[in-house]
Amino acid sequence: MFKYAADIIKGVLSLCEGLGVTLKHFFRKPFTLRYPDVRPEIPLRFRGRLVLPVDPDKGAHRCTACMMCVKACPNRSIEIEKETGEDGKPKPRAAKYYYNLGTCIFCNMCVESCPFAAIVMSDEYELAVYDRETLMQELTAENLRLDGAKGAWWKSKFREETAAGKGEASNG
Ligand code: SF4
Repeated sequence: MFKYAADIIKGVLSLCEGLGVTLKHFFRKPFTLRYPDVRPEIPLRFRGRLVLPVDPDKGAHRCTACMMCVKACPNRSIEIEKETGEDGKPKPRAAKYYYNLGTCIFCNMCVESCPFAAIVMSDEYELAVYDRETLMQELTAENLRLDGAKGAWWKSKFREETAAGKGEASNG
């Protein structure tokens, strides 16, 4: 009889404890968002799709086709074709920058290896496609203007490097 009463008290206490947790969460601010109507704020260090943005100071991309990113990529997701001059000699500029989103593991090694801050991992996170062919992207053709907080951060990054005498290249 005594054990029976003790079990009932234990059950009621456990129920109150559970209700207490529920009540505590009921008055908390929600952690979830009404996605896709409400979009999350993306941190600057977020690694989305790789992009080759247009440098607003130059009006062109900053890639010199030095191939550092190609060598740094552990998954061989980048291929670059150099521009050739009228004399047939290669120029320090990428004519085509092929990026395979399908094999990219978003490790950021390419961005870190680039001495010219030419590439950056964007805020783009909705990357699903219906056609696998579209995962191979040619980035010079995009002429992408990087705006927002990420764009400002990227510009400050290469301007700092240029001011410090690093990341300069004859890109013409
Ligand atoms: S490391 Fe930078 S400059 Fe060199 S090829 Fe890659 S993106 Fe272009």
